[in-house]
Amino acid sequence: MDKKRILTGDRPTGKLHLGHYVGSLSSRVRLQDEYDCFFIIADLHTLTTKPAKEDIERISDNAREMVLDYLACGIDPSKSTIYLQSAVSEIYELNLIFEMMVTVPRLQRIPSLKDMAKGANLTEMPLGLLGYPVLQAGDILMPRANLVPVGKDNESHVELTREIARRFNYLYGDVFPIPDVLIGEVPTLVGIDGNAKMSKSLNNSILISESEKDLIKKVNSMYTDPNRIRADIPGKVEGNPVFIYHDIFNPNKAEVEDLKQRYETGNVGDVEVKQKLATALNNFLEPIREKRNEFESQNGLVDEIIYEGTLKMREEARQTVLAAKKAMGLTGIWNKISRKAEKYRKTQDKK
Ligand code: ATP
Ligand code: MG
Repeated sequence: MDKKRILTGDRPTGKLHLGHYVGSLSSRVRLQDEYDCFFIIADLHTLTTKPAKEDIERISDNAREMVLDYLACGIDPSKSTIYLQSAVSEIYELNLIFEMMVTVPRLQRIPSLKDMAKGANLTEMPLGLLGYPVLQAGDILMPRANLVPVGKDNESHVELTREIARRFNYLYGDVFPIPDVLIGEVPTLVGIDGNAKMSKSLNNSILISESEKDLIKKVNSMYTDPNRIRADIPGKVEGNPVFIYHDIFNPNKAEVEDLKQRYETGNVGDVEVKQKLATALNNFLEPIREKRNEFESQNGLVDEIIYEGTLKMREEARQTVLAAKKAMGLTGIWNKISRKAEKYRKTQDKK
């Protein structure tokens, strides 16, 4: 029997950070043998909040950096398909079809979109941003994915995908699976500034590719208990980003328990807590950094991976959209036009 499928991915807006890692990347690495995986470089999604030409110019480099992050974390391109969204033209078609399966008020109720609009300083909602989860439904259903490993902020988008798939299947017959969401080991990783979400746009992230020195600097600048102005004042561990990170990334549980106990009783300085965290994070990232450098030194490797993956995805997409159109009864005239267009192109070529 064919393996079940995964689709997930990231917007190429910069290098990936620890939030991406715990929210989604670690699940992908863990599941890539069990599932057929498709990882999307969602460049069309970047247009929703960053449509300026300068932003578009950065997409290629950002995509390359992102794929290096993937490889460094253990994603294996011989097992998984990594592809560029905008180079699969069927996505525009599926997006339009899916726009018919959803209402505007339904989209307006999705909380993450309001946050994104606010984050991008938009006073009014662009149609494309409102349609972000519809396009995402197209992404997920294009390879007919069964499972979507994402961070908590994306949960409501997968819920909408399920509704769209059900609606489509109800209207036209069973074409799409109803995909499940898989929230990462940490649903939402807090930022180093104490903001609820680590995010590229909020400038509060630690990158997967962060250098040892920059990492130490960032950890030293981290938000902790603001009431604790001296080391002998008892501090709050609960909800404190430094301890949240210790719990996730420091494998030495005894050390973490000791630090917590001394923090709560005013027997340890922030400096020691942060130093130990920086060491734990650097130990965690060191092998990833090494692998990243290795892949980076192989000229052309990343481009080749994106190229191969996109060709594979294009074929998947062609089949899916054909199946969708057939189910809808759109193919009759469409096939005829395609054949005529082919003939016409040949006569043009001869000229
Ligand atoms: P950022 O919000 O940092 O600008 P992004 O939102 O552009 O990044 P996306 O491409 O939207 O990143 O998200 C990629 C994946 O990473 C999604 O599954 C998202 O849920 C997850 N993710 C991003 N930030 C975090 C976080 N702080 N904690 C957990 N998961 C996260
Ligand atoms: Mg996001």
